[in-house]
Amino acid sequence: MSDLREQLNRTPLRLSGYVADRFTASSGSEEIGVFDPTTEKQVATLFESSADEVDAAVSAARMAFDKGPWGRATVAERQLALNAIHDAILSHADELALLETINTGIPLAQTRTVHIPRAAYNFRFFAEYINQAGGDVFTQEPGLMSLVTYEPIGVCALIGPWNMPLGLTAMKIAGALAFGNTCVVKPSELTPLTVTRLFEIIEGILPEGVMNLVNGRGHVTGTSLVSHPGIDMVSFTGGTVTGAAILGSLAKGIKGSAMELGGKSANIVFADSDFEQAVDAALMSSFMNNGQMCLAGSRIFVDRKISDRFIDSFTRRVKALKIGDPALSGTEIGPMINHSQRERMERYAGSGLGEGATLLAGGHRCANLNTGFFFEPTAMLAPTNELAICQEEIFGPFAALQLFDDEDEVIAKANDSDFGLVGYVWTEDLNRSMRVASALRTGTVLVNTPIVRDLRTGFGGYKQSGLGREGAKGSQAMFTEMKTTIIAREPRKMPRMGMAGA
Ligand code: NAD
Repeated sequence: MSDLREQLNRTPLRLSGYVADRFTASSGSEEIGVFDPTTEKQVATLFESSADEVDAAVSAARMAFDKGPWGRATVAERQLALNAIHDAILSHADELALLETINTGIPLAQTRTVHIPRAAYNFRFFAEYINQAGGDVFTQEPGLMSLVTYEPIGVCALIGPWNMPLGLTAMKIAGALAFGNTCVVKPSELTPLTVTRLFEIIEGILPEGVMNLVNGRGHVTGTSLVSHPGIDMVSFTGGTVTGAAILGSLAKGIKGSAMELGGKSANIVFADSDFEQAVDAALMSSFMNNGQMCLAGSRIFVDRKISDRFIDSFTRRVKALKIGDPALSGTEIGPMINHSQRERMERYAGSGLGEGATLLAGGHRCANLNTGFFFEPTAMLAPTNELAICQEEIFGPFAALQLFDDEDEVIAKANDSDFGLVGYVWTEDLNRSMRVASALRTGTVLVNTPIVRDLRTGFGGYKQSGLGREGAKGSQAMFTEMKTTIIAREPRKMPRMGMAGA
């Protein structure tokens, strides 16, 4: 690790876009620094894709879709390519995990075992899925046959966030390609290392122009991409405010979109839950990925009957979390992605105290870690659900606990949120788990389990957490146009118009 880190510190990478099978020229563009949040040193220079370069990328994708072989490729041909990408990622897994950790500050133990394997698996999953994905045939109406088929939607703009750069972007790429589309990918300007490297390691696998890359900031490269008339849809993962801005831009061209946005997910722990499992999961749901997870279950509701024991155990464990260099084995919490994300943690710690919450753990920068954007994992006990720390997405290692007395009360409080991504329920009572699961207004409910993503199911949010679902059928809906073809199987009986003079 330190070898690669030192190498990047000595000679930062030079990152650009990738259009029609060639990395774009890096001279003359705006230069953006890309940093390692642990050392605060620059690890890459990103040569920002201008509006002209975005135009070239969209044109290449358009040409490949309209004239190239990909849209007409057989299932077997697409499977071959997707599986080759899967293999390429796995054969570079160590390097990609290191790059992801250097660029994001997320512990290597997690990038190695979760991020990169998942990035690869997306391609294998969709390769298998397209072999079985079908349409519908309706023959109930005598003399008619109605067919529902799914056709590729065209040129997909795929925009990813910084908190799981390769894993989340790979899911979009795999889904878009599997259903016969071409794409232009834009990773976050904060974390472009692994997605750009992906383009190098899969060179030659896809026909020219099928997969293109633009790199740059949201308000420059991102806006050029989403407002480009040549795209057919946008699949976006990121913040709710950004999602709303993109939707505004798409409305002008009546373009489709899929939006995976923010969350503030409730984690409800009933007194009859498996106590140790519930505490383990509360830690994991709040602090994995440095707490920078859309599906963090960091709004923790604890049954008053077990609250003393739960708060005591949870707080001791939060204080014992190992903070430090994410490359070292044993590190559980690395640095925040950047300076402003750490300031955000500080602001919420201050606002929690100002609004009457009790500090249980953390709340400050790490006194012994002067370099790197480190912040102590934090837990607060909130008196009500109205506090900003209970309503707003903090996106860092920050848990807000509240107490409750009964089921109806906790359901109402859990649903009292602008977001609706995930709900976590901990109880050994099957009937209760079913009641609460159906009452929660969230796209996913997880009962007696921490975070699970099952690609066969759809992942996405109610309310301001998003539009559309990612996963098997959800991705099919996102990346295809549904076409209905109705065929007469015998001459139709119909009124004969215009027969007056006949
Ligand atoms: P962000 O919204 O700041 O940026 C996401 C991407 O959008 C980046 O690539 C950015 O450059 C680009 N962008 C910014 N402004 C743009 C514009 N006007 N037009 C086009 N593109 C633009 O989000 P982030 O800070 O990178 O990620 C954190 C957010 O992502 C959190 O809110 C988190 O909850 C959310 N997220 C959601 C999911 C999910 O599946 N629901 C998963 C991960 C992260």
